Amino acid sequence: MNEVPKLDLYDVLVVGGGPAGATAAHELAKAGRSVMLLDRAGRTKPCGGAVPPQLLRDFDVPDSLMVAQIDTARIISPTWRTVDIPVGNGYVGMVDRDVFDEWLRTRAAQAGAERHVGTFTNFARGADGIPVISYTDGKSRAGEVRQVRARMVIGADGALSPVARQCIPNSHKAKHVFAYHEVVKSPVAGDEANFGAARCDVYYQAPLSPDFYAWVFPHGATTSIGTGTLQKGFGLKDAVAKLRQETGLDQVETIRKEGAPIPIKPLPQWDNGRDVVLAGDAAGVVAPASGEGIFYAMTGGRFAAEAVLAALVTGNAKALRHARRRFMRMHGPVFAVLDIMQTFWYRNDNRRERFVAICRDRDVQQLTFDGYMNKQLVKAKPLAHVRIFFKNLAHLTGLATA
Ligand SMILES: Cc1cc2nc3c(=O)[nH]c(=O)nc-3n(C[C@H](O)[C@H](O)[C@H](O)COP(=O)(O)OP(=O)(O)OC[C@H]3O[C@@H](n4cnc5c(N)ncnc54)[C@H](O)[C@@H]3O)c2cc1C
Repeated sequence: MNEVPKLDLYDVLVVGGGPAGATAAHELAKAGRSVMLLDRAGRTKPCGGAVPPQLLRDFDVPDSLMVAQIDTARIISPTWRTVDIPVGNGYVGMVDRDVFDEWLRTRAAQAGAERHVGTFTNFARGADGIPVISYTDGKSRAGEVRQVRARMVIGADGALSPVARQCIPNSHKAKHVFAYHEVVKSPVAGDEANFGAARCDVYYQAPLSPDFYAWVFPHGATTSIGTGTLQKGFGLKDAVAKLRQETGLDQVETIRKEGAPIPIKPLPQWDNGRDVVLAGDAAGVVAPASGEGIFYAMTGGRFAAEAVLAALVTGNAKALRHARRRFMRMHGPVFAVLDIMQTFWYRNDNRRERFVAICRDRDVQQLTFDGYMNKQLVKAKPLAHVRIFFKNLAHLTGLATA
């Protein structure tokens, strides 16, 4: 235990100002708590930036933050068969993460959260047992060291979270997809590129990704072209170069190239039973198969904030467990289905071909999109489920051909 000099004391320190941390800080500040939002800033999060309409509804995010509105998802098989899946009612939104994340942080600050630019380095406790957090005052660990006290800490510092590694047992065992994308200038009308300004293209082809998928996501003036894989050593950059060549997108200007890990399994434990709880990528909550994480990060941020509020009000740290419990109760079934889907259908090109064939089915399209847009497994259509079950069976047993 350290003897602590007089330090500022907050109800809650939120480490990380991405969608999870900014949402948590906003919720806590709205509830009247003193909140410090610590973010190291300086780097735009590498991200495809696709968000479902449910996110806009749940988190009161304005349409004006969407730089593109997507009405079709095109999936492309190993033999270049394509299936266009109309989005139906509404649209899939595209956000630019520099603007989107800053908007969320500003909203949290307007609600009363105190923003600090700094890099979390260490979690310790004072003689009174209250957490003492050290951070460097700047964008790296090289800055001047500062300290602050907080009754509760939310670790929303992304994949490979330093807070999780210091405070939550076994968090270093998390599994990740390695993702890489290139942000390019979008082609203009008349260009030869295979591209749609309101269409997201998803490639299921082993040379582009042996176990995940590659994508072309339009963002208005720019476009994200990327891929991901669980396989260490797979040539992500070569795969993106190949995709750009094959789609004619090698002819457009490259703006930046960047990569980051995507967690693919929720951690078994999100809190330390006392005063720390995780949210977002730090907690491992990105949907398997799709890699969708922004909506789940914001939901996790909200649940972490509500769990912290309950723990502060009651003095019972067991309330922190509710963050994970609530999240898994609500989204665990969808994650389980997507996990099976990734494990089974993304295994080899033969299965990917069949998977794309299955997606031609209207029932499958509708269920998939209902699930994505509204974040629920649709229970209201039992007949569609039965039809899909038999169609799946036919494909699995080879009775149906791709
Ligand atoms: C290439 C790629 C494409 C993706 N595409 C999509 C997509 O299209 N749609 C989708 O929904 N999801 C997508 N994701 C996933 C999505 O980006 C993440 O799930 C989401 O950003 C998680 O939000 P978060 O707030 O938990 O973490 P992050 O967004 O990673 O935010 C963490 C924050 O913590 C800060 N931080 C980190 N370490 C420290 C520290 N030591 N001290 C202080 N601050 C710190 C960082 O500066 C950052 O602001 C993609 C991910 C990748 C890598």
